[in-house]
Amino acid sequence: MTKINEKRLLNTFLKLVTIDSESLHEGAMQAYLVGELKKLGCTVWVDKAGKKIGSDAQGNIIATFKGPRAGKAFLLSSHMDTVKPGKGVKPRVQNNRVTSDGTTILGADDKSGLAIILEILHTLKETKPVHNTIQVVCTLNEENGMAGAKNLDYSKLKGCDGLILDNESVTELLVQGPEVSDFKVCIKGVAAHAGVCPEKGISAVEVAAKALSLMKIGRIDKQTVCNFGIIQGGGATNVVMPQLELKGEARSLCPKKLDKQIKHMKDCFAKAAKAFTKRVDGRIIKPEITIETPRRYGTLNVPKNAPAVKLALAAAKKNGVKLKLAASGGGCDANVMCQHGLLMPNLGLGVQKCHTTEEYLDLKEFAQAAAIVLDTVLAYDK
Ligand SMILES: [Zn+2]
Repeated sequence: MTKINEKRLLNTFLKLVTIDSESLHEGAMQAYLVGELKKLGCTVWVDKAGKKIGSDAQGNIIATFKGPRAGKAFLLSSHMDTVKPGKGVKPRVQNNRVTSDGTTILGADDKSGLAIILEILHTLKETKPVHNTIQVVCTLNEENGMAGAKNLDYSKLKGCDGLILDNESVTELLVQGPEVSDFKVCIKGVAAHAGVCPEKGISAVEVAAKALSLMKIGRIDKQTVCNFGIIQGGGATNVVMPQLELKGEARSLCPKKLDKQIKHMKDCFAKAAKAFTKRVDGRIIKPEITIETPRRYGTLNVPKNAPAVKLALAAAKKNGVKLKLAASGGGCDANVMCQHGLLMPNLGLGVQKCHTTEEYLDLKEFAQAAAIVLDTVLAYDK
């Protein structure tokens, strides 16, 4: 039976967390991984995304590990970057957990995924079971809006099924995630002396208040949410506020519902503009409102019957893990890859409290995740 080597898996992980790779500083990590992947027998190709997104690394890695079985390649993907503070990580192994020394993050997000990928290839190389070709994708700068995945050269991928290794608990397989739109508003009112002639002005903050009072904000429905998080405007208390900027966002697991919410939000600002249009000294004045709604990323939507989902569920059962399909309120590389037709659910690896200095890796779950990935890879025969 083909099994992973848990000791080697842990050692690989401990090595990876000591290579600093905060977002946009993935150069050393990329170089290390390219070396390891080549040693394991992969054909390694690095794209040119680094320059485009401002990283000190050349780009995303796409490595191909040839399998004896003909058919489509199975994809495994993790990101190379970490959040801050991620420099000089000193891992500690205690009570079946790995933690940092408390002054930095651990970086198990997402070096646990990279370690599992390397361990899978080690195992396949050593034991030579029958399997399809594996393609490994290591991305840059996932933590800042998935910039690496957005600039990946998808033409190099020879398959569409696979796993993203970048989730928390091993009991959760993410198959759904929202589409997200930013919502930036600039309201130009009309300045006037607040003490002498306020009626001659249009207060940008009052226009904003009117629009927001008409608007559905917060939880819209089971799948959709909306929030305004930043407001900036004004410079003096005795001036009717001439300009205000608002920044918000809307998210939905259903793109049609997101479109509907964005339209509703725009309508509320249009109504507010109308309500504050008036005649002053014989001429019409009105607020000028500009709205931008760039899409941050699209939905993650992997069907329940996608090969990677079915195989991961079966592999989890075999390894004694109760794996559940889940929806996330946030985004990850899987969202971006889904937009390119890749059906890659996101598996949890035993990482907890990520993005904090209390981040830890549960070694039992970590080993279970590695076993699930290995069994999924071995069972894939499209
Ligand atoms: Zn991550």
